[in-house]
Amino acid sequence: MHRAQQVLGQRGCGRGADTGKLVGGAAEVERKIIHVDMDAFFAAIEQRDDPSLRSKPVVVGGDPDSRGVVAAASYEARAYGIHSAMPSSQARRRCPQVVFVRPNHETYREVSTQVMALLREYTPVIEPLSVDEAFLDVTSSVGLFGSARRIGEQIRGRIRETLQLTASVGIAPNKFLAKLASEGAKPDGLLEVKPEEVLTFLAALPVERIWGVGETRAAKLRRLGFTTIGQLQQCPAEELVAQFGKQGEELYKLARGFDESAVQPGRERKSVSHEETFAEDTNDMVFLGAILLQLSEQVGRRLRAQELKGCTITLKLRYADFRTITRSKTLPQPTDSDKQIYESARALLAAVGLGGRKVRLLGVGVSNFDVGEQLRLLAEDSAEASAVERAVDEVRERFGPQSVRRARLVDGGTAEEGRRQRVEPDSDGPQRKAVQDGNNQ
Ligand SMILES: [Mg+2]
Repeated sequence: MHRAQQVLGQRGCGRGADTGKLVGGAAEVERKIIHVDMDAFFAAIEQRDDPSLRSKPVVVGGDPDSRGVVAAASYEARAYGIHSAMPSSQARRRCPQVVFVRPNHETYREVSTQVMALLREYTPVIEPLSVDEAFLDVTSSVGLFGSARRIGEQIRGRIRETLQLTASVGIAPNKFLAKLASEGAKPDGLLEVKPEEVLTFLAALPVERIWGVGETRAAKLRRLGFTTIGQLQQCPAEELVAQFGKQGEELYKLARGFDESAVQPGRERKSVSHEETFAEDTNDMVFLGAILLQLSEQVGRRLRAQELKGCTITLKLRYADFRTITRSKTLPQPTDSDKQIYESARALLAAVGLGGRKVRLLGVGVSNFDVGEQLRLLAEDSAEASAVERAVDEVRERFGPQSVRRARLVDGGTAEEGRRQRVEPDSDGPQRKAVQDGNNQ
């Protein structure tokens, strides 16, 4: 019998402990959350499958001679300062003997499926974050498998034995801390943060490690004298709210390791969307085009993170008089490509024809998901673009959503140009007021 089935039904999902008090990350009923993250996933698979690559600096990614980008780097390559989203040419300069390997997405997806199947044996309450990482709520599994640490060790052991790969494991009372713990455990390690250790564990970390703190907010926090989470822990909630509004509350909670979000198994989305309200109504098509591109990138990023592709692209538009319209277009093939989403949204906006009317909100959404399509073999060409987009996602994940921008924000850029990224300092445009997350997850 499938081991997961034995633990089903005790607690159908990870909720239940969500209404706890603010006591150093532990809710009234202590949850046991595990974050599993494969080490240098793509590169490790290549080294496993080709013994000649073992213990060598390996980069999975695009051609260094044609503006390729690093999708993944082995730990040997990382020792030279090579990392994801770096131009492959730069990686070669840093380490001339680095071996470049083309991404084999079909293999990565197969291995990903194997990893997730293995994890599912320990709990049905599993939320994959991307191809190579997942949250598990094992609160109800400990009776069957022993402590969360024991489960973490078993998972690491079995991944090593059956897949000849290494994974790092973080264990904590919530998702936020479990992810930080697995980062702290890397590579090939396990770190458990117990409820009584939460405040100390967080204190030494830089403020950037808090969820939702991108470059802009980190810079502001530093200006206010907060470099480490420990310093932030000393700040009263009212002061943070005065500085950051409602998000100040969130900062206050996360700095103390309090995160009540549940591990969401089989989270089924009907759509993924982002929208933005402007501080001033506008009919400036260049500005609107730039916003559409940003929204499309946010949606694409979220789709790829969840291994989703959708056929229907929807544009939402609210006029200055608050009248709201939506326009949709269905593509012949499901997509998760920023470019395709943007082009469709752009065409929908052009078809609406503002006729001089001003707009106060724009939104972009993708729906009509084709689950089977998720595992479709990627064509050689789209695999390349996809690797780049994933690499960019990884940078954004690490440094905040604004850290990587397309070289061209609006029309005129070719696909090739669109693939060239540069890292820019973060800045909120003066006309922007709020970014509303259509999923509010
Ligand atoms: Mg990983």
